Amino acid sequence: MTDALIHTIDTRRDALIGLAQDLIRIPTLNPPGRNYREICDYLATRLMAQGWTVELIRAHGAPGDSDAFPRWNMVARIDSGRPGDCVHFNSHHDVVEVGHGWTRDPFGGELDGDRIYGRGACDMKGGLAASVIAAEAFVAATPDWRGSIEISATADEESGGYGGVAYLAERGYFAPDRVQHVIIPEPLHKDRICLGHRGVWWAEVETHGRIAHGSMPFLGDSAIRHMGAVLEEIEHHLYPLLATRKTAMPVVPPQARQSTLNINSIHGGEPEPPPGSTALPAPCVADRCRIILDRRFLIEEAIDEVKSELRAMLDRVQSRRPGFTYTIRDLFEVQPVMTDRDAPVVRSTAAAIERVLGQVADYVVSPGTYDQKHIDRIGRLRNCIAYGPGLLHLAHQPDEWVGVQDMADSAKVMALVLRDLLG
Ligand SMILES: [Zn+2]
Repeated sequence: MTDALIHTIDTRRDALIGLAQDLIRIPTLNPPGRNYREICDYLATRLMAQGWTVELIRAHGAPGDSDAFPRWNMVARIDSGRPGDCVHFNSHHDVVEVGHGWTRDPFGGELDGDRIYGRGACDMKGGLAASVIAAEAFVAATPDWRGSIEISATADEESGGYGGVAYLAERGYFAPDRVQHVIIPEPLHKDRICLGHRGVWWAEVETHGRIAHGSMPFLGDSAIRHMGAVLEEIEHHLYPLLATRKTAMPVVPPQARQSTLNINSIHGGEPEPPPGSTALPAPCVADRCRIILDRRFLIEEAIDEVKSELRAMLDRVQSRRPGFTYTIRDLFEVQPVMTDRDAPVVRSTAAAIERVLGQVADYVVSPGTYDQKHIDRIGRLRNCIAYGPGLLHLAHQPDEWVGVQDMADSAKVMALVLRDLLG
C-alpha cells in the first residue's frame, strides 16, 4: 500500500513501542489510584514539546480523590488554525491490581517478539500509545489539515470513571460544541468497532425476619428461608424469562446477547466470624438476609420495566408466603448506549479498517460498561465508539500483553480516520 500517512506510522514503529513501554512502566494502580500525576506529566511533556496545549485537571471531591491519591486527568489539544471538527481520543490511564500468576514483570514493559507485556498493556496503554502516535503522525504528514485533535488520559475508569471522564463531562469537556467525534481505544481488537454497551442495574434486596433461639425456630421467622423462596423464584421464573429476551445489539460474547442477572453476594444471619476465629456460632434465627443483584439490560428494555419486573416477582412471593416482607435498595445504574452505524466516526473507522486490514469491520457491543456512558449521558455526545488494539479477554489477566503489529495497525486506522474527518 503506497500511502504517505501509513508510511509515516511504519517509520515510527520504535517510537510506538517505546511509548507503550514507558506508559506501562508507570504503575497507575487503581485502587488506590497511584502515580496518576506522573503519567499525566509524562504525556504532557511529550505533547507540549510538539505544540499541544495541555490541561491537567484534578477531580477534586470525586470518589477516591485525596491528597495522598489525587485523581489527575490530562487533556491535550492541538488546533490547526483552520475551521473544522474536533476528534477526541479518550483513554483511561488507570490499571487494575496485578493479581497472581505472572511470569513477567507486570511493570517492566518487556518486549518479546511481537508482544509487550505488562499490567495495562492491552487495557489500555497500548491503545493510548497508538492514538498518540496516530495523531502525531497525522499532524506531521498533513500540513493543511482542518479543525482540532484532543487526546485525554483519564482516571478511574476501572472504578466507574467518576474521577475521570464523568468529572470532565460535567465540566463541558465532551459538549457537542467542543468535541464532535470520540474514539475510546479500549482493547476491542483492531478489526472491530464497539458501538456501545448494555445497561446495568445493581440492587440490594433484603428479606426481613424475627430473631429467636435456634432451638425453637418456630418462635421466630427466618429471613434466610424467605430469601430461599426469592432465589427459587429467580431460578425457576426470572432466569428462563431473561433467556427469552434477545437483543438486536451485537453484544460479544454472543451469550451476552440477552438480558442477564448475576447474584453477586448473599448474606444472612449473624455476621461472618473474623478470619482465624475459633469461636462457635450462637444459635439464632436470622432476622435479615441480603442479596446484591447485578442485572444487565438491553437497549430494548426500559430501566423502569427492569425494576418493576423484579418488584412484581417479589410481590408474587409475598402473596403466597405469610410474613414475607422485603426492601429494595438501588445501588447503581447505567443506561445502555449504542451509537448509530451511520454516525460519522463509525463510517470513517469502518472505511479505514477496510483500507488498512483489507477486511470488513465487525460491529460489536460490550457486555459491560466503560466510559462511553458518561460521554453519552453527561456529555450528550452520540458520535462515540470504542476502537483500539488488544484482545479483550487478556484484560485484567496475568501476563497481559499487547501486540506491536496490532498497535501499529490500529494507529494507522486512527490516522486514516483523522484524515477522513479533518484532512
Ligand atoms: Zn479499559
